[in-house]
Amino acid sequence: MSDEMNSKVVVTGAEGVKSPTMEKVNLLGLSPQKLQDWFVSIGEKPFRAKQVLKWIHQLGISDFDLMTNISKDLRKKLHTLACVKAPEVMQQLDSSDGTRKFLISIPGGNVVETVFIPDGERGTLCVSSQVGCSLDCSFCATGKQGFNRDLSAAEIIGQVWIAAKSFGQLMPDGPRKVTNVVMMGMGEPLLNFDNVVDSMALMMDDNCYGISKRRVTLSTSGVVPALDKLGQYTDACLAISLHAPNDELRNELVPINKKYPIAMLLDSAQRYIEGLPDSHRKITIEYTLIDKVNDRPEHAYELAELLKEVPVKINLIPFNPFSLSNYKRVSNNALRRFQDILISAGYTTTIRTTRGDDIDAACGQLAGSVNDRTRRSERYRNTLQSAVDEPVRLIQ
Ligand code: SF4
Repeated sequence: MSDEMNSKVVVTGAEGVKSPTMEKVNLLGLSPQKLQDWFVSIGEKPFRAKQVLKWIHQLGISDFDLMTNISKDLRKKLHTLACVKAPEVMQQLDSSDGTRKFLISIPGGNVVETVFIPDGERGTLCVSSQVGCSLDCSFCATGKQGFNRDLSAAEIIGQVWIAAKSFGQLMPDGPRKVTNVVMMGMGEPLLNFDNVVDSMALMMDDNCYGISKRRVTLSTSGVVPALDKLGQYTDACLAISLHAPNDELRNELVPINKKYPIAMLLDSAQRYIEGLPDSHRKITIEYTLIDKVNDRPEHAYELAELLKEVPVKINLIPFNPFSLSNYKRVSNNALRRFQDILISAGYTTTIRTTRGDDIDAACGQLAGSVNDRTRRSERYRNTLQSAVDEPVRLIQ
């Protein structure tokens, strides 16, 4: 039985006493294949999976009694063995530009963030995969929060369920607001491999959200062994968090680069994209521009040279300052100059506009609240405090 099937929700009896016999399987996070296997394992026909997937993911129904095309006996059995339980929304924040952020409570005193960004007909949901992140990229607010744990598949797909429900998408003939999903929220998706690929399978399944494989994107900072096997499990789009044109600079910004350097990462990414059944797909290269760190023309020329054999499009992201970082936002001049060099070199190069500033939902600002098991957040706060204290001591 899979991890997800084993991650059972413990319900409490009337007296509030936990009973192992009352543990239930949370069907929300079971991939189509795993749900089918589960029905077979309880002596039911595999087609029940399709029926239940539609009730849960297309109609937003979590109460088995409302699943009217299922016999009363099976509904009773489902009540005994299973549940449909999404994580709890603590707060929903709506920006003046239409961006919507959800603060989602994760057991253990944690909060993760999910952000919906509307753009014309397109509505992109940025989904978190872990509580915090263990990789500590130097420009990332999530990394500074430390790490607690991986999210379960139910907690990942639950973010899509919650967002779609908030827009009425999970109603018959309701408006379709969430058209795209990017695994770019808190966490490194490839370090939570099984739960992320199961969730992406649900996003793309026609009995669930039916989002096209060209509209679901996994973004990685470069966990090469996991990327090497990704193609066996999904055909979603791929984004690489690159942020530097050479290993020396990337080692500083994205420390996992010391283990899996740029050449190794680009080779693996290219194998993934070339292994997809449909041709002409490109890897998205994400490059966060930081003032006087990686924003000079020579960096742009070096990047153009680095990527010349790789099918890519480039997305430039102006760094969004946050309290635990000394980096500054790139100037508009440097940003335009960087883009012009890449366009002149023949690359499709877009600039990600900052959205949801008034609700701290911009790229790189997702911090949630992490019950940090690494003590990294404490170290950063202490460093910051020392820097603040320093001038005071000098005056004394
Ligand atoms: S950029 Fe991504 S991989 Fe790096 S610390 Fe932030 S969440 Fe983790």
